[in-house]
Amino acid sequence: ARAQIGVTGLAVMGSNIARNFARHGYTVALHNRSIGKTDALLEAHGGEGDFVRTETVEEFVAALEKPRRVLIMVKAGDATDAVIEELADAMEPGDIIIDGGNALYTDTIRREAAMAARGLNFVGAGISGGEEGALNGPAIMPGGPKESYESLGPMLESIAAQVDGTPCCTHIGPDGSGHFVKMVHNGIEYADMQLIGEAYNLFRDALGFDAKQIADVFTQWNTGELESYLVEITAEVLNQVDAKTGKPLVDVIVDAAEQKGTGRWTVKSALDLGIPVTGIAEAVFARALSGSRTQRAAAKGLASGVLGEKPTDVAEFTEAIRQALYASKIVAYAQGFDQIAAGSAEYNWDLHPGDLATIWRGGCIIRARFLNRIKEAYEADPALPSLILAPYFREAIEKAIDSWRRVVVVATQLGIPVPAFASSLSYYDGLRAERLPAALTQGQRDFFGAHTYERIDAEGKYHTLWSGDRSEVPA
Ligand code: NDP
Repeated sequence: ARAQIGVTGLAVMGSNIARNFARHGYTVALHNRSIGKTDALLEAHGGEGDFVRTETVEEFVAALEKPRRVLIMVKAGDATDAVIEELADAMEPGDIIIDGGNALYTDTIRREAAMAARGLNFVGAGISGGEEGALNGPAIMPGGPKESYESLGPMLESIAAQVDGTPCCTHIGPDGSGHFVKMVHNGIEYADMQLIGEAYNLFRDALGFDAKQIADVFTQWNTGELESYLVEITAEVLNQVDAKTGKPLVDVIVDAAEQKGTGRWTVKSALDLGIPVTGIAEAVFARALSGSRTQRAAAKGLASGVLGEKPTDVAEFTEAIRQALYASKIVAYAQGFDQIAAGSAEYNWDLHPGDLATIWRGGCIIRARFLNRIKEAYEADPALPSLILAPYFREAIEKAIDSWRRVVVVATQLGIPVPAFASSLSYYDGLRAERLPAALTQGQRDFFGAHTYERIDAEGKYHTLWSGDRSEVPA
């Protein structure tokens, strides 16, 4: 027994993480359900470090020094349960099982409880960064028992991305918290991608730019406050030319977006928690609309009504789109952080939003310059009621607001869909509103269901006798 860590599940993510551990000097035991992937990894990269080849789970577990640490990188869902069971049977109390897959956090809560009952430490770890991040430094969000982090933390921190000397990995909190924050991270990623998509759509259909011109705008934006991995790769994708047709690749890709489920999970969880994550929800639904091929084909000839004029002040409108994107992005993050605060309260996780902003600065898909500002905002006020209220972001939105409104108006007049820009603006207007129409909603609820309402001028709950003499009674 000489390996410090074992990795089981050697598809792209698992093999790259195994190589990342080995490159950092750890001896890594390798296991995969079918031996083919193990041998392929050893053949291509066996020279990068110290690997131990194992075929059976028993051999794999026996190769590990105690307390044993096993990282599972298999397909999320039933496969993960099957692998956990097999490992748990072969392992001993005090050993650590880490699930690095994209597990649903409620599954992680269940698995952690089951393993704890057997004396095993179960660590649900969200890992972001795709295959490139897995190899060169991902963002890692490990949950589970704090004690297990003492022996595991330094290993995970050494393979994680580093920003200004700080690893993009920290103990998140108990049981499912690591996978929960990874889920919300992915939800924010959906929103960010949708917002970038809407900006692209406006350049194409409102300003008539071709893919190359739009790529140049994103390349330019990536030098400023929007600097981020997603903006950077947007320029790369838009610059890609299709070898077959000579056209921009983006113009020959079918415009029907797919999804694997983490965005949907985020929205489902937000619905349960009662948190308005409108930007994320619009992004998930926008993908669903794009994929509604039958309806879209049938709806092609529907009337647009009279459309407005396209903007002629190209430079100014370009800057307006940038401002709209930035403001909407702040809203999406604010909503995601609200969901994290609500999840933390619901499950007693004691999560620290500033820590998350810190570890999301590198490695992960949503890494961005502006996460430094989020980190600072939570450092200045850990109990910030909304990110939008932090002075830096408040000023940024105040600076952007006129442009943001103009972009939504122009898009609407041109018949260009901007669900995330528009709903983020409505969220902002709703949040800052003096009076919302919810008073009428309460009146209606009291009318048909005697659900009662509160008054602005008195304590307690009241009911109007709608089907009687319409006098008011205390409830
Ligand atoms: P896949 O999700 O495609 O899973 C393939 C691996 O799972 C193979 O090693 C396969 O073994 C194993 N497997 C499948 N079913 C079983 C089973 N019943 N018992 C044992 N092993 C099984 O691989 P990825 O590398 O893409 O992802 C791994 C995990 O990381 C997933 O949970 C994914 O959601 C998550 N993730 C992926 C990211 C990405 O960018 N791809 C980013 C972040 C997280 P075999 O070779 O024998 O078929």
